[in-house]
Amino acid sequence: MIATPTCPICGTTVPPASFPGASQSAPFCSKRCQQVDLFRWFDGKYVIAEPLDPERHLEDLAELQDPGEEYPVE
Ligand SMILES: [Zn+2]
Repeated sequence: MIATPTCPICGTTVPPASFPGASQSAPFCSKRCQQVDLFRWFDGKYVIAEPLDPERHLEDLAELQDPGEEYPVE
């Protein structure tokens, strides 16, 4: 069963990604709701739940760049 995405602003069911034009405002149902969300950000009503952690982020990058055991350096 495929979960039907809904607009986070008004709760309207959002057309699938295959729907023509749907991707332009995804995950919102329309440009209007997309802008409403944007304005909420500007107003500071939204807060970032997880603060950025530069150190951990760099560790993740190091792991990605580490060739590991799959590609031994000779
Ligand atoms: Zn909406």
